[in-house]
Amino acid sequence: MRKSNYSEKFSITRFSPDPFLVIEYLLMARINTNYDKLSAGYLFPEIARRTNAFLEVNKGTQVLRLGIGDTTEPIASAVLDGLHQGVKNLGNAETYSGYGPSEGVLPLRQGLADLYGEHGVKLDPSEFFVSDGAKSDSANIQGIFSEDCVIAVQDPAYPVYVDSNVIAGRTGEATDSGYEGLVYMPCTEENGFFPELPSGKVDVIYICSPNNPTGAVATKEQLKKFVDYANAHKAVILFDSAYASFITDPELPRSIYEIDGAETCAIEMNSFSKTAGFTGVRLAWTIVPKTLMTEDSEAGKVHALWTRRQNTFFNGASNIVQAGGIAALSAKGREQTNAQVGFYLENARIINDGLKSLGITTYGGGNAPYVWLKTPGGLTSWEFFDKLLNECHVVGTPGSGFGPAGEGFFRLSAFGHRENVEKAVESIKDNLKI
Ligand SMILES: *Cc1c(COP(=O)(O)O)cnc(C)c1O
Repeated sequence: MRKSNYSEKFSITRFSPDPFLVIEYLLMARINTNYDKLSAGYLFPEIARRTNAFLEVNKGTQVLRLGIGDTTEPIASAVLDGLHQGVKNLGNAETYSGYGPSEGVLPLRQGLADLYGEHGVKLDPSEFFVSDGAKSDSANIQGIFSEDCVIAVQDPAYPVYVDSNVIAGRTGEATDSGYEGLVYMPCTEENGFFPELPSGKVDVIYICSPNNPTGAVATKEQLKKFVDYANAHKAVILFDSAYASFITDPELPRSIYEIDGAETCAIEMNSFSKTAGFTGVRLAWTIVPKTLMTEDSEAGKVHALWTRRQNTFFNGASNIVQAGGIAALSAKGREQTNAQVGFYLENARIINDGLKSLGITTYGGGNAPYVWLKTPGGLTSWEFFDKLLNECHVVGTPGSGFGPAGEGFFRLSAFGHRENVEKAVESIKDNLKI
């Protein structure tokens, strides 16, 4: 009876002039048209398209890829032992585990809290939310903030901060100078690739340090200004520290919680991806302090919201992988993963030295796995991409793909086998016509 009622309604709604039935029609499934606003997602497919077109014409040429931010070296033995142990545990009734806490197992959360403790940061394990990625966390975190929050991003930036807010409907259309409604904070040579404070009031501020793509690391003084702004304006900083382990300078902060006052205004995201070669394994964490406040909420509320969000939408990171994460935090694991980070930093040094010997201006690389170079001769980022590919057979990433202020810059990634990195640098030195 009910069913036939529904199908009757369905068949007439499309054609009926009755206004009530027209409303029924409007309530049918529609897509989220915010996706149509997205201009990004264009960057890496376009790199692939141009590279393939080059290879089509130059069959058999070896192309050297310094484009993508993905680890290349095998997982360290102490960490592998942890992963193996995680697998073994599943094969035994006494150690088997199914669903765990969605926030992650306590030994891992404790291990992470201890890691921060080494830098004088006091956080409780319950403030750590273990997850399967800092990319998904940084995309999802906006969901606990009001739809009408004004969002500020560094320009250039890791694309997910912008895209997740576009999809959530916090922006207008894409224009040549970025999305309408977003506050872009330019990171330029003049400001050392760390932005000035926003001139008006913004509500949510994304900061990534060490930065992808510029390789710049914010100093304590630079972060302090933003922390003070956020506390004064009841704004929230979303701090992505995925590359913190690449910081070698002891003066530079590895966590925003090294800054006084950050515990009331900042959420931090970090990951095992780049530190332990877990880009394919998947393990990360987000810190939401219980002291965090917003304009309309007291301490504890945002922590409770993220707890609720994770419990509702997420069933926890893999137990095998969490065992690997615990091993990565062990003394042996730390020693081995630090050595690997050092290996990538040496790649960055090789890239930097090679470019500088040609008189190219470079930034980054010292405390980050990215070298950010100024395109020689005033070329646009994509013109330089084509030049580097055609003359040197090297693939990198055009800076303009990360935001309007990235125009005229280019990112080279230090993730790669040493032999490849050396070949790429030699080829640039021998073949780049500038
Ligand atoms: C690689 C990267 C991450 C890590 O993301 P995962 O999802 O944990 O692999 C986060 N932020 C930035 C800026 C990155 O470059």
